[in-house]
Amino acid sequence: MATETRAGTGALPAPIPLEQARAEMLAGLQPLPVEEVGLADALGRVLAEPIDSQLRLPPWDNSAMDGFAVRSADTLGAAPMSPVELPVSGEVAAGVLADRPLEPGCAMRILTGAPLPDGADAVVPVEATDAPIGAGAGSPPERVAIFEPAAVGDHVRPVGSDLLPGARLLEPGRALAPAALALAAAGGHARLPVFGRPRVAVLSTGDELVAPGQPLGPAQIPDSNSIGLLAQTAEAGAETRSLGVAADRRADVLARLAEALPWADIVVVSGGVSVGAHDVVKDAFAELGTLELWRVAVQPGKPLAFGRAARRGNGRSPETLLFGLPGNPVSSFVTFELFVRPVLRTLAGHADPIGREMVQARLSEPIRKSPGRRAFLRVRLEARPGATPAWSATLAGAQASHVLSALAAADGLAIVPEEHESLPAGAEVEVIRL
Ligand code: AMP
Ligand code: MG
Repeated sequence: MATETRAGTGALPAPIPLEQARAEMLAGLQPLPVEEVGLADALGRVLAEPIDSQLRLPPWDNSAMDGFAVRSADTLGAAPMSPVELPVSGEVAAGVLADRPLEPGCAMRILTGAPLPDGADAVVPVEATDAPIGAGAGSPPERVAIFEPAAVGDHVRPVGSDLLPGARLLEPGRALAPAALALAAAGGHARLPVFGRPRVAVLSTGDELVAPGQPLGPAQIPDSNSIGLLAQTAEAGAETRSLGVAADRRADVLARLAEALPWADIVVVSGGVSVGAHDVVKDAFAELGTLELWRVAVQPGKPLAFGRAARRGNGRSPETLLFGLPGNPVSSFVTFELFVRPVLRTLAGHADPIGREMVQARLSEPIRKSPGRRAFLRVRLEARPGATPAWSATLAGAQASHVLSALAAADGLAIVPEEHESLPAGAEVEVIRL
């Protein structure tokens, strides 16, 4: 590690540029092995192979409306004052095939989704007839008066108008959203091949921390990082496990990490990575595996540590990646977003590790930051209709790294490049939409 010298503190490694740190973390990472999952468990997973339709859908011409199946020629000239009256020769409901063709000069009552009887070429909606409407309509009437003419194909959904057998439904690499899952089901699939789901264990460190909601001792605060990080992890699509709170002792941190290793693809630790006398996490990483990097040129989040440990037990990925995030709640949130999330998404098979919308915005107030580090300001975005850039960004509150209230009020992280120490109101910035 390169070093920077600080009077009185000895040598510290120089903070690494963000892209370099991220590249080291992503180096050699492959998506987790492919597995088959049921559609009900596939939301958010990444498809590993192309999926084609096994079915023709609709499988037959069918009715788009509740009404009457007719031969369109039989309705010629129908009008409100001179309706065409046809005898009703039966009914076809959804899930039933007509037991005979529609005779010329007749109508059959038909319900939405029912196969069109042979001989029919159109459907007259019940609203365009004198027949009763709704569930109370009872058995089909003997005759029906039709008030408007039907053209061939009216209110008929043609066979195969949605899916054809063999048609490509979903490409590999696609993150499975609700509509894609419904499409797979419609195409005849019950299970899909997807990349494995990353397993992430989350550990808080600090003698001052107690579980949320517990009574606080004189020098204690709630462990909010575990909750936030577990939620960020789950939101990014991973399976999560909490390792609780470790004391500021290397042995305790080590024991909890060792316990997580056989299971976890990633371990996220918060706190204990800075230059304090009780910051034991880096040593624990080095003892368990390797400490690959420490300190990244970002604000907040500079003390970030990253390491690797050989997988113990089952080998679904050869190593467990170790993230030591700074304990300040905003720092832990931002460094998860910048570093852990891309790693997790890569393991999950996403082609784009970042997966965030970026927008340009005009700062509505001046800002200050540390030079030499890329800053991620907690901002609120507001649309500027018709203007360029299309958004304005306002600080969501104080920017110190302990101010969770501003983080929770933010809907974006405004990026201010390393070289600036300040920006004036009106400056244009890029914003990560959260
Ligand atoms: P550290 O990184 O351990 O030096 O912690 C930096 C600051 O973050 C301290 O004020 C800690 O009390 C606070 N902190 C550390 N871990 C947590 C946590 N899990 N939840 C809330 N605050 C924390
Ligand atoms: Mg601490």
